[in-house]
Amino acid sequence: MCGIIGVFGHKEAAKIAYFGLYALQHRGQESAGIVVSDGRNVREHKALGLVADVFDENTLNNLKGHIAVGHVRYSTTGSTTVKNAQPFFVTHGKHTFALAHNGNLVNAHLLRAELERQGSLFQTTMDSEVIVHLLAKALRRGILEAIKETMELIEGAYSIVLLAQDKLIAFRDPYGFRPLALGMLNGGYIVASETCAFDLVQAQYLRDVNPGEILIIDENGLSSYQAVESEKLAHCVFEFIYFARPDSYIFGENVYVFRKRLGFELARECPLKTDFVMPFPDSGNYAAIGYAQKAGLPFEMGVIRNHYVGRTFIQPSQSMRDFSVRVKLNPVKEILRGKKVAVVDDSLVRGTTSRTRIRAIREAGAYEINMLISCPPIRYPCFYGIDFPSRGELIAAKHSVEEIRRYLELDRLYYLSLEGLLRAGGESNQKFCLACFTGNYPVPIQAGLSKEIFETQEPL
Ligand code: AMP
Repeated sequence: MCGIIGVFGHKEAAKIAYFGLYALQHRGQESAGIVVSDGRNVREHKALGLVADVFDENTLNNLKGHIAVGHVRYSTTGSTTVKNAQPFFVTHGKHTFALAHNGNLVNAHLLRAELERQGSLFQTTMDSEVIVHLLAKALRRGILEAIKETMELIEGAYSIVLLAQDKLIAFRDPYGFRPLALGMLNGGYIVASETCAFDLVQAQYLRDVNPGEILIIDENGLSSYQAVESEKLAHCVFEFIYFARPDSYIFGENVYVFRKRLGFELARECPLKTDFVMPFPDSGNYAAIGYAQKAGLPFEMGVIRNHYVGRTFIQPSQSMRDFSVRVKLNPVKEILRGKKVAVVDDSLVRGTTSRTRIRAIREAGAYEINMLISCPPIRYPCFYGIDFPSRGELIAAKHSVEEIRRYLELDRLYYLSLEGLLRAGGESNQKFCLACFTGNYPVPIQAGLSKEIFETQEPL
């Protein structure tokens, strides 16, 4: 879970990257970084924290140049230290590189072991560093060949922006797991994880960086190379369900509209007669709107979200039960009292936050609570970049829907079927990675990456 941005041909490239990262903040809140180049000198600034805290006017003014890459991070591999913050910036001979990666490689541990055996020294625990080493090794043959060779070796999910001195380069794995969009900005170019970053800086969306494609942008303009043929697409459907911002356009589709269709499908599969429909905000909002519209039920905000709870939020010293969940969402008693409600949320992962939230709305007076989840049960971990816990912690991996309903103290629990999810996907439904629901991993998981996946249950 990360957000990336690349800018070429703007005299304040770092500022554009900063605004873009601001729009992509939902994709990672652990660290933020920007590297710029004026074609000769390369400068960087990165730190742990939110975009707004990591940069100020001064740091941005010092980042002079017309090419920039930036990154916001939510670690899926590697621990939270500033060393692991990206863009990953290295000098190799007379070349400097800054690489920002979204996704997760499934064979990084094997490649790293081999590189270490050959004498490579690693500075971080990130799988992205493996990519930089492979690029450096092949660089004699030129940057394009080096990327092609690297793409032949790395397996898994990668959407990447790379600053190579006077060039901005973008490339994406042949399955297209993570989004990556290309836009135009005042005659220059911009590449970002999601189009919401374009909107903020008034850039025009041109198209997605294609799966398996390498884009090289320099003084001569933009050149495209199809480095690896894309035999099968595997766009992460969870980007649509939960992760991406609803105002973004990813994988050829607007996220808000997609989520509403998930709500329509839920209403088709599980029509309920309740007093109203409410979401757990914000993640459940759009499917709840879709459900309410299709079911012809009123829509209410039965819980209110506090938007100002950051990661560094100080916990009370005395134990206040469920404090960290309550501080984020507070039930509205006057709306809930004596009511039969349909609560919509995007997903259940561990089940722990949902249990607390459901208790809170019960205590506020809701007398019948039905919960509708706008995706199927998540039974398998993600190895391609979504931060799901291990199999043992995924509530649906070991428990039936009825057991989960009892644990959550619900009157009714309904998950959207896989067929319903695919119907909502319409024409795109052949192009999704559904591994977290089915256990069918489009890129095989290499032994050593996780033991637990091989131990339990057959795929559905
Ligand atoms: P829980 O009840 O603890 O399983 O939390 C479910 C909530 O976590 C849902 O409302 C989701 O919006 C949100 N969620 C979904 N995916 C993730 C994830 N990978 N990491 C953290 N939270 C998530």
